[in-house]
Amino acid sequence: MARLQPVRGTHDILGDDMLRHRHIVETGRVIFARYGFSEWATPIFEETRVFARSLGETSDVVSKEMYSFQDRGGESLTLRPEGTASIARALVSNSLAQSLPQKIFYQGPMFRYERPQKGRYRQFHQIGAELIGAEGPLRDAETIAMARDFLVSLGLDEGIRLELNTLGDLSSRLAWREALVAYFRQHADQLSEESRTRLEANPLRILDSKSEQDRRLLADAPAFDDYLNDESRQFWDELRATLKAFGIAFVENPRIVRGLDYYSHTVFEFVTDKLGAQGTVLAGGRYEGLVEEMGGPAVPAIGWAAGIERLASLIELPEQKTTGIAIVPLGQEATLQGAAIAQRLRDRGMVVSIETRGAMKKRMDRIVKSGATHVVFLGDDDLQREVVQLRDLSTREQSEVSVSDIATVLENALSV
Ligand code: ATP
Ligand code: MG
Repeated sequence: MARLQPVRGTHDILGDDMLRHRHIVETGRVIFARYGFSEWATPIFEETRVFARSLGETSDVVSKEMYSFQDRGGESLTLRPEGTASIARALVSNSLAQSLPQKIFYQGPMFRYERPQKGRYRQFHQIGAELIGAEGPLRDAETIAMARDFLVSLGLDEGIRLELNTLGDLSSRLAWREALVAYFRQHADQLSEESRTRLEANPLRILDSKSEQDRRLLADAPAFDDYLNDESRQFWDELRATLKAFGIAFVENPRIVRGLDYYSHTVFEFVTDKLGAQGTVLAGGRYEGLVEEMGGPAVPAIGWAAGIERLASLIELPEQKTTGIAIVPLGQEATLQGAAIAQRLRDRGMVVSIETRGAMKKRMDRIVKSGATHVVFLGDDDLQREVVQLRDLSTREQSEVSVSDIATVLENALSV
């Protein structure tokens, strides 16, 4: 039988990759707490309708990327492709839509049937935040500030820029949409085939197109700025002023339209040039109809999500301070004594390994490589006298310590 491999587009997370993954989540937890956000976890699958309508029938995610299946009861379920719809559903299911604002973050696996390539998987992980009941631009700016702090804490302040855009309110969007459709109709022969289909279904998405052909046409397309109504313009002005007050630099990018249907006003992406076409590491925006879509009241919200794999490929792991203790018993009796000592040391919070395998030289090589700082040797002779030989690997000094004192001696040695 051929060797088993993970399913195409999925991957195992081991060793340093797992440390990176964990570091990202733990950094997020620390930063988000400063902004008063608390963590929620929702199931990784939901009724298909939780996603199908809310993300927009014509969005890439819904039209071709969802992992949907029927369970044994005949119900249509979907592995979650993103977190926001589930959080909105959970808010309503748990009757929390009356106690706003709710500041929530989440992290975990997401599933999309995409063509696997570097930085693009079918099971990947996201960490994200939602501020539900976000009354005005202050909340947008604050949620973006939190995202920026998170990236900075991961050491990613250089080489990442914040790109910002407004989609205005619905009436601004509709007016612009009409102008866009007229413009693209005029030039339909120059549009890519995919965009010609979008023209009817969702013309705004043409702005997001990666085709060179479409991009050339976009240069002269009607600018949204000319279609913003007063209310939308005021929101946009206030947002930019508030971001400046938070000390956050941004560039305006009218191309950012985001792939999902539920956004209005604010949309933004943190982008790096280091990952080629997969350069968006964190993205989000303001949305208004989603909670209502889930059967709750109409409440505005602002949120974002970041791809953990993409972040992991960019960060440096912080230096790990290792403080391990290796116990080296010589003989069967000594192994039992070693087990008892190991337990006492671990009870006091020390990191302990019991090294019984291989010739002494090999064992010592392995111990040094593990980053251990101290070795506790236990010979037959030592057993009878109830002592151990303690070696400090940094000074290479060795001393005899009584079994009853060893935990305290090590504790003192490690705390200096
Ligand atoms: P793209 O335009 O790259 O397809 P998207 O708009 O589909 O991105 P979002 O739904 O906004 O992405 O997800 C937020 C973040 O999650 C992305 O910026 C990216 O870092 C990450 N992400 C999205 N899809 C994948 C994937 N298939 N594999 C790995 N990470 C992903
Ligand atoms: Mg996508």
